[in-house]
Amino acid sequence: MPKPVLLTVDDDPEVLRAIERDLRSRYSNRYRVMRANSGSAALDTLRELKARNNPVALLLADQRMPQMDGVGFLSEAMEMHPLAKRALLTAYADTSAAIDAINEARVHYYLMKPWDPPEEKLFPALDDLLHDWTATFRPPYEGIRVLGTRWSTRSYELRDFLARNQVPYQWIDVELSQSDPEVRSLVASLGPEAETLPLILFPDGARLAEPPLPAVADKIGLRTHTQTSFYDLAIVGGGPAGLAAAVYGASEGLHTVMIEREAPGGQAGLSSRIENYLGFPSGLSGNDLARRAVAQARRFGVEILAPQEAVGIRAEGPYRFLKLADGFEISCHALLLAMGVQWRTLDIPGIERLQGAGVYYGGGTSEALACKGETVYIIGGANSAGQAAMHFSKFAEKVVMLVRGISLASTMSHYLIEQIEKTSNIEV
Ligand SMILES: Cc1cc2nc3c(=O)[nH]c(=O)nc-3n(C[C@H](O)[C@H](O)[C@H](O)COP(=O)(O)OP(=O)(O)OC[C@H]3O[C@@H](n4cnc5c(N)ncnc54)[C@H](O)[C@@H]3O)c2cc1C
Repeated sequence: MPKPVLLTVDDDPEVLRAIERDLRSRYSNRYRVMRANSGSAALDTLRELKARNNPVALLLADQRMPQMDGVGFLSEAMEMHPLAKRALLTAYADTSAAIDAINEARVHYYLMKPWDPPEEKLFPALDDLLHDWTATFRPPYEGIRVLGTRWSTRSYELRDFLARNQVPYQWIDVELSQSDPEVRSLVASLGPEAETLPLILFPDGARLAEPPLPAVADKIGLRTHTQTSFYDLAIVGGGPAGLAAAVYGASEGLHTVMIEREAPGGQAGLSSRIENYLGFPSGLSGNDLARRAVAQARRFGVEILAPQEAVGIRAEGPYRFLKLADGFEISCHALLLAMGVQWRTLDIPGIERLQGAGVYYGGGTSEALACKGETVYIIGGANSAGQAAMHFSKFAEKVVMLVRGISLASTMSHYLIEQIEKTSNIEV
């Protein structure tokens, strides 16, 4: 976690340097001491810190500053960093303004200038404030954050992409900003940037608004381009079949590349619980299976390109040539096509518009949490529908399975039928 920030604000350069020096001498091992020479410069700094999810522990502002006084600054700062302790630095003549500020701007403390010796007149009060702050502080999430709206197809595509590529992230639904003060202050600190959604905030401060997936892949360090132009074995498709072939090929010493257009794991990666896979008696999630298989393939030196699509093949003598969507062409001794199948889509007018915005294909596992207390309809009566029903039943109030056959028995495995029968909030 980055060090929590202590920000001091004063328009007098000498005073600013002196207070900064004192703060550093006592707190720099646990806190990052920052300074600003005006209220508006300090607000800019706070906006940036908010966007980076960097915690702010203390704001210490001079009361008498041109344009924006200390109380004005602290009141605005409170909107962005409501948990930061706020202290005002005042000259004797401003004491009554400072006392009013404690009531009006909910300033936690006021300190008198000069503060020499700091061991007596500065540190005890600040120690006390910081002690209070530490007691209630919850470390912020440090990874990638995705801002968007629940019913946006682009937001869903991005969430699904990150989840299927095993990239942890925090989802922030900006429509909740009315009810959630944290979301509200984050949106306010981003200003007009928060209007182009989805928006990804990276821990290093970088932001991508409405990004194409290859740009996200580049930023998070996924390999999407080939390292060389010739391989012993090239595999198209990164589902279980492609991954298994990659592991066996590379373990025999073949220089192997696997090309996957979405995310390694294929359809299996969408499964909430695979229970019939040999060697996993209590089952495992599709994501877990994909993660393990990818690790195994990488250990044997397989080059995995994802997301990357194969768009053409040709043969020339003993070689096979594969054209990739980025325009590159690779050649190989052996080419293995493991592109699996694409699910059948529902033939209902207008449904494409709702895909990723209320209508989901596959297991829709990344949506389950958002369905708390809702009714979910699942269309289909085979194993993936059964797994999805079991998974959603843990979050939704009710799951209704719409099955056109006369029963589940002809299409679904016996173990899943038994589980569904025992689950009271699933209706078939
Ligand atoms: C929700 C769900 C749950 C399931 N649960 C189970 C279960 O519990 N037990 C079980 O045995 N089976 C289960 N299955 C079925 C199982 O996942 C599939 O049988 C299996 O994934 C097939 O593997 P595959 O590698 O042949 O193809 P796929 O998994 O379909 O993989 C093919 C891959 O090729 C990629 N691809 C296609 N064209 C290109 C191209 N031109 N360039 C690059 N990449 C390309 C696709 O993006 C895809 O990732 C489930 C399926 C789903 C959808």
